[in-house]
Amino acid sequence: MTRAHRILPDTAGPAPTRSAAAPSMGTGALGRAASQEAPELSAEIADPDLPGEPRRDDEPRDLNLSLRRGWRRTCPACGGGPLYDGYLTVRETCPACAERLDLHRADDLPTWMTILVVGHVVTVVMLSVWETWDPPIWVHWTLWPPMALLMSLWLLPRFKGMVVGLQWAKRMAGFAPRRKD
Ligand SMILES: [Zn+2]
Repeated sequence: MTRAHRILPDTAGPAPTRSAAAPSMGTGALGRAASQEAPELSAEIADPDLPGEPRRDDEPRDLNLSLRRGWRRTCPACGGGPLYDGYLTVRETCPACAERLDLHRADDLPTWMTILVVGHVVTVVMLSVWETWDPPIWVHWTLWPPMALLMSLWLLPRFKGMVVGLQWAKRMAGFAPRRKD
């Protein structure tokens, strides 16, 4: 009993000190105010009844079409504007239809696709030439490295365009529609 009596005041002791940290109530109130604002903002963005541009989140997107547009290095949404600003830098928006293009996350996938295709093609052609004509080694050194380099430079922006087209059509990465909550 005496122990319990001792423990009770001890456990009750720290509680006032915790609540005595009342200055944090100020920031807590601010945080609460901010968290109250956030749902209102997102609800405003996601509200389909608001005037302005009609919502495009539910429109079906043709995967094959956007893949072909990406292969042609054009905007997956309209096919009219160029996808890149330069060799491989995806534009922020399409100059033709103003669709956001920089929301993709292509990352290393186009590079892996390029390596896969170029590696197999160059290897098969090289072995075929070797088996058929057996040319001297300098012929191999002259042919295959430039062939691999040129094929890679040609394929990489097209594969990246296809990956951007895939992500746009499937609403992946940053192309995903906004959540309502
Ligand atoms: Zn476009």
